[in-house]
Amino acid sequence: RFISFEGIDGAGKSTQIAAARVWLECRGFEVVATREPGGTPLGERLRELILQQSMAPDTEALLINAARAEHLATVIRPALERGAWVLCDRFADSTLAYQGYAKGGDLAQLRRLQRDVVGSTLPRRTYLFDLSVSDAAARRAAGREQAESDKFERAGASFQERVRLGFQALAAAEPGRFMVLDAGLPPATIQAQIETDLALFHAQ
Ligand code: C5P
Repeated sequence: RFISFEGIDGAGKSTQIAAARVWLECRGFEVVATREPGGTPLGERLRELILQQSMAPDTEALLINAARAEHLATVIRPALERGAWVLCDRFADSTLAYQGYAKGGDLAQLRRLQRDVVGSTLPRRTYLFDLSVSDAAARRAAGREQAESDKFERAGASFQERVRLGFQALAAAEPGRFMVLDAGLPPATIQAQIETDLALFHAQ
């Protein structure tokens, strides 16, 4: 089972991935929790480059998809083949939201590139953590992971707003795959919503 977690920075994905992991492991499932860009030694090196270095949107999309090819080949596909659950912090939707909707990259071209790289290894379920840009900024200011995101912090609120609208458009286009969560709710409430969905999902 392949599940992705998406949303703007500071929406609370990592807390919920950790909780979902515990919930699944308590039920005896093997869980591989991973992230993009990254998830492999090569992918993590590419992630550093992508986050720190300014580059053309096309270059960024190619590097993200290079990291994704490695991630699929060495982590995600082997895990799915042995029956593990894969919980991925960001996947292909982030590329469409950030490099496409927010940075103005050509969506059709990004989708073609992704189709070549991802093939049929698509998430069955995507949890979208939807949060207003101001609430997300307040959380980030209170929290962690600041240094790494500097390049994106500088991009400002209107950039994050475009990312948010991009995710909302992607979710509206595929309501069967996406579950949109109100990330402003208390973490325990969101956790319960995800656990209920996972219970239904794995019983199918
Ligand atoms: O959520 P995470 O910590 O993985 O995000 C790292 C940074 O990379 C974030 O600031 C996010 O805005 C950015 N990113 C991006 N394009 C992607 C994926 C992530 O610009 N396709």
